[in-house]
Amino acid sequence: MTTIFDKILSGEIPCDEVFSDEKCLAFKDITPQAPIHILIIPRKPIQSLKQIKDEDQELLGHLLLKGTEIASSLGLESWRTVINTGEEAGQTVFHLHIHIIGGRKLKWPPG
Ligand code: 5GP
Repeated sequence: MTTIFDKILSGEIPCDEVFSDEKCLAFKDITPQAPIHILIIPRKPIQSLKQIKDEDQELLGHLLLKGTEIASSLGLESWRTVINTGEEAGQTVFHLHIHIIGGRKLKWPPG
């Protein structure tokens, strides 16, 4: 199934890019929940954490490392890393993505 993020990866739909390499793309969320809200997506089409395999171990680590690099490069001292998995958890786009959210005081627990 083609998602909006596949269209962003192919360039069919534009995005506000903050980082790109051969494994992933990071861009600003279109509906930011905080002053900084970045999405990091793998170029590999993985629907969610439900579909990950042993072979994805290095890729998943790569996404987290890039999340830290991006958060730091944007000047964040604190941030939240979120991966919604499944509809009830709030996943709306079924292409794996990591949210990096920061720039304001964040409440816990999330709703
Ligand atoms: P989810 O709810 O699946 O965890 O997160 C999907 C995120 O993608 C949401 O925060 C939503 O605002 C963002 N989003 C949906 N469509 C687009 C789009 O076309 N461009 C960008 N930049 N973000 C999008």
